[in-house]
Amino acid sequence: MTENKREDDLGKTQELFDFLQGKVPEGYRIPESEMPKLTADQAWTVVWYLGNLYWQVPDYIERCDVCGDLFDSNSEGTCLDYGDAPYDFCGACEDGEDAEEKRRSPENPEQDSDDASP
Ligand SMILES: [Zn+2]
Repeated sequence: MTENKREDDLGKTQELFDFLQGKVPEGYRIPESEMPKLTADQAWTVVWYLGNLYWQVPDYIERCDVCGDLFDSNSEGTCLDYGDAPYDFCGACEDGEDAEEKRRSPENPEQDSDDASP
């Protein structure tokens, strides 16, 4: 049991280490321009930092695609998940023009439309 967890820890840390150097993990699609491309030494500094200071980053913290601020999606904001990638809006931006435009997009499955989507 403990041995398995150790191997798992090694595997996950290796994946993160590789990810930080530009290797997309299996099952994920991340645009090339959004992939980190650190050197092995820089990647290791991030892994070391997470391990020593704060390993778990909660997945409900999101980054607003309008203003770039981080926010707690459990207490504010909206995510419009369609098109090329999900779009997150913090509480301050969710009623803004960008969010309205994204909601009106023909790609939005919640948009009223008689067209049958593929
Ligand atoms: Zn924002």
